Order: sequence, then C-alpha cells, then structure tokens
Amino acid sequence: MERLKGIGVSSGIAFGPALVAIQRTQVIRFPIAPERVARELSALERARKRSRQQLQQIRTRISELKGADLASIFDAQLLMLDDPVLVGRAADLISAERVNAEWAVQRAFDEIAAVFNDVEDPYLHERKGDLHDVAGRLRMNLRGEKGGARDLLHDLDSPCVLVADELTPSVVAQLDWTRILGFATDAGSRTYHTAILARSLGVPAVVGLHDVSQRIPAGASVIIDGDSGDVMIDPAPSDRREAEARTRLQRGRQSAPRTEGPNETTDGIRIQLHANIERTDDVAMALASGAEGIGLYRSEFLLVGGPPDLAGEDEQYEVYRHVVQNMAPRPVTIRTFDIDERQLARPLVDTALDARWFPDAGRTGHAGLRGIRFGLAQPAIFKTQLRALLRAAAHGSLRIMFPFVSSVHEVRAARALLAEARAELQARGVEAGQAAIGIMIEVPSAAFTASLLAREVDFFTIGTNDLIQYTLAVDRTDERVSDRYEPLHPAVLRLIRQVRRGAVRQGIPLAVCGEMASDPLLLRLLIGCGLTEFSMTPGALLMARRVVSETSAGEMARIAARVMTLGTVDEIEKVLVEHFGPEGGREEVKTQ
Ligand code: PEP
Ligand code: MG
Repeated sequence: MERLKGIGVSSGIAFGPALVAIQRTQVIRFPIAPERVARELSALERARKRSRQQLQQIRTRISELKGADLASIFDAQLLMLDDPVLVGRAADLISAERVNAEWAVQRAFDEIAAVFNDVEDPYLHERKGDLHDVAGRLRMNLRGEKGGARDLLHDLDSPCVLVADELTPSVVAQLDWTRILGFATDAGSRTYHTAILARSLGVPAVVGLHDVSQRIPAGASVIIDGDSGDVMIDPAPSDRREAEARTRLQRGRQSAPRTEGPNETTDGIRIQLHANIERTDDVAMALASGAEGIGLYRSEFLLVGGPPDLAGEDEQYEVYRHVVQNMAPRPVTIRTFDIDERQLARPLVDTALDARWFPDAGRTGHAGLRGIRFGLAQPAIFKTQLRALLRAAAHGSLRIMFPFVSSVHEVRAARALLAEARAELQARGVEAGQAAIGIMIEVPSAAFTASLLAREVDFFTIGTNDLIQYTLAVDRTDERVSDRYEPLHPAVLRLIRQVRRGAVRQGIPLAVCGEMASDPLLLRLLIGCGLTEFSMTPGALLMARRVVSETSAGEMARIAARVMTLGTVDEIEKVLVEHFGPEGGREEVKTQ
C-alpha cells in the first residue's frame, strides 16, 4: 500500500480501479480495444472531411468580405489538412498505439511543432499557428463524433477512479460523471475550476498530487479521500472496508431529504442561499439542494467545444430561457462570458476558457483581455449575448452580471452596449425583458472603488476566488503557492468590508459567490461582516443551511469586529478556533 498526500477539494470518498488519463492541451489519451481501431480511423476521416468543408466555407466568406489575399491563409490550412504528416501520421498512431483519434491528432501536431520550433524561421513559426488551428479544428470535429472521450468512458466495464496529469474545465464539463467515482490529478488547487466543478457534481476529488498520474498504474485499486486529501494505492483490506463503509454512509446522506423554508440565523437575520452553476443540467441539482436562486451562472461554459461566434443569439436565448423558466420564480444571475480574447484566433473556446486556470508557457495568463474587457473588445459577440439575455429576461427574473470589472468607465461602456442591444431588439420587434444589471467585484481596483461603482449598477457580487488571488498576488492555480492563498488575510477581509460599505451606502444588494462562502467557518465570518446573500456550488448548500441556522449574526459581528483589529492570519484563526473549536466548526458540519 502506498499513500500520497494532496489537496482534498471535493468532499467524499471514492474507491475503485484507476483509469489513468494523460491529458495534455485538453486531450485525453485513451487506450482502445483492437476492434475499435477501425472506428477511430473512420471518425478521423469524417473529421477531416468536415474540416475541409468548413475551411472552404470560411475561405469563400472571407474572400467575399475581405478579398483573395486574406482568404489565401485558408489555402495553406486546406493543404495542411491533406498533408500526410498530420492526418496520415495520426492514423498511423491510432493503429500502432491503439489510442483515440483526438489524442493521435494532438501527438502528430506536437511532433511537427517540435520540428518547427527547432528552425529559426519566422515563416515556419507562422505556419505553426495555422497547423495549430487545423489540429484544433480536427479535434473539435472529432468531439462531435461517437467515440469521443464521453463515449469511451461509457464503454467502461465498471465505474472507475480517474487519475490524470491535469483535467481542464472544458474536458470535465464533457465527461460522463456517472461512470467516474472520483478523480485525482497532478495539478490543481482548491479554487481552480475543475475543483469547483467537482464540488458541484458531488464527485470526490484530490488535486495537487504532483506526479500521481505516473505513480498509479492503470487498473490499480485506489482510494481517494476528498476530505483529507489522501490517495491510497493498492489499499490494505481494512482500508477498503472502511472506504466502502464511508461510501455507503455518504450515499445515505446524499439521499436524505433536503430541508425547506427560509434560512435564518438564530437571531432572526434572513440569509439568502443561491447556487453557482456551470451547465443547464445543474439546475435540477440546484433546486434539489434548496437553492433560492442562481447566484452565478458561468455562461462561458456553454461555449465549450466550439468557436465563440458559434453560439448564436437564438441558441443562447434557448439556454438562458430554459434556466430562467426552470428556476422561476426564483432569480437567476447570468454572468456574461468570462474568457480571454487573445485566444480568439484559435478555433476553440476551450483554450480560452482553460487558459484562465491553467497557465503554462503555451497559454495566456489570467489577467489579460478577459471578462468585461473581452466583451468591450468584441462588441459583436458581447451584444449577441446581451440580446439573448434580454430576450430571456422576458420569461422570468433574470439579472445580468459583468465579470472582471476594474473601473467605472468599463461599466458605462458595457451599459452603452446593452442599450444598443435593447434598441436592436426593439427595431426587430422582438420582446426584451427588464433585467437588473450588476458586476462582480473580483479585482482589487473594483473593491477600492466600490462606493463609486455602486452608483452605476443594481447589485454587486464579490468573487472571492479572483479577489484573493489578485489582492495577495497568489496564483489560484499554482499549487506551489497554495498555502499563501489565504481568505483570512487581513487585506482580503478589509476589502470585503469596504465593498459592503459601498453597497450599503448606495442601498444595492451584495452577495458573495466565491468559494469562500462554501467553507463553514468563513461563511460564519462573512455573516459577521454583515453579508446576507451567498451563492455556492449546490453540493455545499445543505452545509450552508445548517451553518446559518446555528449561527448568531450578532455574536459573529462581535467576533468579526475583533478579527478586523488583528494583523496576521494566525491571530485571526486563533480567535475563530477559540469560538468554534480546533476544527473551526468545519468537521462538525461535514459529518452531521
Ligand atoms: C470568483 O472569482 O470568485 C468567481 C466566482 O468567478 P470564477 O471562479 O469563475 O473566476
Ligand atoms: Mg472570477
């Protein structure tokens, strides 16, 4: 038996055979059975044909709009599609190594890219960009195929524990989680999106294990403990029995009836508890968990697997309307796309989405042209989304939220585009509903100017995940500095207090939607800071209801006032531990 220690990011225990997936640049490598080889080869051929058609259509469109010169870029891409070094090599890899087509395409691309990198020729470097796009397009078309990652996982004989080097949010969003009991990854930290998704899916997960994907042989029996962060390889029979008993207990708890009714502290302060969702399927889970609304719908997840301009107005409208109608009469807060513009040249949004949480040499950082900046830089895409949102607003209570705001100027510019979007609908004679307009406070400059921003909008939502990382200059995705990612840092608490003052002075509602709210101890402290609305992963709502019903807001306000005078995280923690015991009340809540 071998025991590894990582960061437990999603509660619960998973026990089963390991499926080891090496995912680089969002592609998972799956071993396939000999009889599947022919299927993968024909899928590759179909993807090539579809890619050819798409490129020809784009070529014609560009040539009509911008002339033949620009269109010639696509001639080069069409040639690459027919070149045996890419698709031919991928086909060889499928047959020789018995791997899935998506992975084979990526491997073939990596091999050619390595050759290009060795040559100091600017022309070849440019061609690498084209080749990257072609490979991306092939993969996009392969994803729509039967036999993609989702189907391969369907073919598993028995459910398994997924062990991977990294799992990007776009891949996680596409997997079939009924077949995966839990996962462990080399990379990651508590607030990266794969961890957030795991919590919303209720899948136990341990991340930040450094080299777990190399240490666990495929098929080995593993136990993953999402509470302690332990991963056991080939566990002893006694550990297995304990894991099985805990899994049964877990299932029993999951099926326990949810409590209904409003949430109030022991001294009668009404607390609103909403759900964070990433997919429309999460609505059912949010309702079952007693969510009083959707406090954050990360709309960029609907772009997974396609280019950003693929999501048309009608298609988006249907998605938003579905969420709003299913949650009615509860309010739904939809955040406009929070992706990075620099990746738009690529055919897939996945890279843009994942770039926010997986920085590495080939990807952009987290503080680029993302969030509201992306919207303002791409008014056509932004207005399409705003029109869809305004149309959906006619069907229920919808609030529109702009992410990553850092100035009043940005809010005014976004509101101007919103007015244009409304006028465009009016001109078409299409009904637009009323929607409250709010912003996420997740950049320190926004927190510092909260009193100014509060005059411009109808509500604030604090995104503590980003606010903490930018305030403390600690990358939320980098496990090497995860111990410095401190929600209890005096700077973070002071900023939250400042935001609240800004909101109260202007009389606008304020919520917290970052992961901070789903930690029982931090939730109590936030209540003490005067916050009354929280949004969190549906899986944490039951915990939050309990915490609220056991907490005295008055007592917490006194503790919070004391905490605000302290200079270090240790001192703050000591005060909280004095009140809630060594586990800070966390353990008591989790095991109830
Ligand atoms: C946040 O930053 O706290 C937040 C909720 O947004 P995201 O995690 O999507 O960046
Ligand atoms: Mg954020």
